[in-house]
Amino acid sequence: MALDDTHDPKRKSWIETANAAGAEFPLQNLPLGVFRRKGSGEAPRGGVAIGDRILDLASAHRARLLSGDAAQAAEAASGPTLNRLMGMGNGASRALRRALSEALGAEAASRRSAVEPHLVAMRDAEMTLPCEIGDFSDFFSSIHHATNAGRSLRPDNPLAANFKYIPVAYHSRASSVVADGAPVRRPHGQIKPGSSEAPIHSACRALDCEVELGFYIGAGNALGTSIPIDQAEDRIFGFCLLNDWSARDIQGWESTPLGPFLGKSFCTTVSPWIVTLAAMEPFRCADYARAAGDPAPLPYLTAKTEGGFDIAIEALISTPKQRQAGGTPMRFALCNARNGYWTVAQMVTHHTVNGCNLRPGDLFGTGTLSGPEAGTLGCLLEITKRGSEAMTLANGEERRWLEDGDEITFRARAEKPGHVGIGFGQCGGRIEPATA
Ligand code: MN
Repeated sequence: MALDDTHDPKRKSWIETANAAGAEFPLQNLPLGVFRRKGSGEAPRGGVAIGDRILDLASAHRARLLSGDAAQAAEAASGPTLNRLMGMGNGASRALRRALSEALGAEAASRRSAVEPHLVAMRDAEMTLPCEIGDFSDFFSSIHHATNAGRSLRPDNPLAANFKYIPVAYHSRASSVVADGAPVRRPHGQIKPGSSEAPIHSACRALDCEVELGFYIGAGNALGTSIPIDQAEDRIFGFCLLNDWSARDIQGWESTPLGPFLGKSFCTTVSPWIVTLAAMEPFRCADYARAAGDPAPLPYLTAKTEGGFDIAIEALISTPKQRQAGGTPMRFALCNARNGYWTVAQMVTHHTVNGCNLRPGDLFGTGTLSGPEAGTLGCLLEITKRGSEAMTLANGEERRWLEDGDEITFRARAEKPGHVGIGFGQCGGRIEPATA
């Protein structure tokens, strides 16, 4: 897909808040989500973010604001999940994007009176998950994260032998994926307090977060078929932010030999807006630069085009003490989607190479997007070297792991000179104490 009028950096919206410098949701973004008016008891329905407003796709469709393919897409997004729109393939969401870009563009100010009745202020809305997530697979795509995480298990050879050949992943839990703002309950599980001590049943003592990019599948594939690498990207409906909350002590004891289970499945938070693949078009970049001597990807994972995306994701922490003192959240990590050794297209193709079928609304996580330097590490496991060195916050507090009342928030932007930058909204959650 190429750049078109919907990406034109000169274009503005008649909704002034969309034109502000640094706005998350300018005319060039138009992410999709599911919302309703706060406390209204209304049925959730699809919407598109523009400035500080949400365009209600259900009411816009009922009022026949759109026509042709865009109207069909809006109809498919009028219910409580976007799965039907996702399953129509990216042609449908692109038609909707083109029509909305036109209707909300400054040059269409004459349509303002027709469009305005379908706008809801974001501050009056609550967001839900954007779709029904059938399956959730979480990858392990940053070589820096994989090396740092492997160091305590295999100090001499931290990177597993398969890493440079396989986009490694595990099947995570779809039922416990929640949207921004949902509380995160500290989990219970089996932990081993020391290497020579017997395991006990306890509340998690090593709670962590992981900075990841998420993405949703649009049109899937039939069981027994696979998605070739050059078609893989177009099966991605769009992107979100994803916090793969992790109980390191539960994970550490349970993961041999089969990998993460209860240490991950208690909760995953996503940002509720889906930034479409079309909106990401200007922010493409080269694949991760493999070191000289690294193996080339096998042919089935070798794409003809660049597969990287330049998305800066920051992680902020706010503690009860900070909040009581009226302080602002502190940034403790700045990661980037470019840090993935494997591209999102390679993840899609590898997932289906055995004939596994993907379905509209399936969720993928990239894995923790740590970079090589201090300040770019995307989880406490890496920052505190598995809890051995405390992270000091701006107010002097220390954290080895997350404590009750801590709030973790991810925000992200894609920027490129000559283009209008876009934001992703917020992916946040506060830790609540374990149940008694
Ligand atoms: Mn993860």
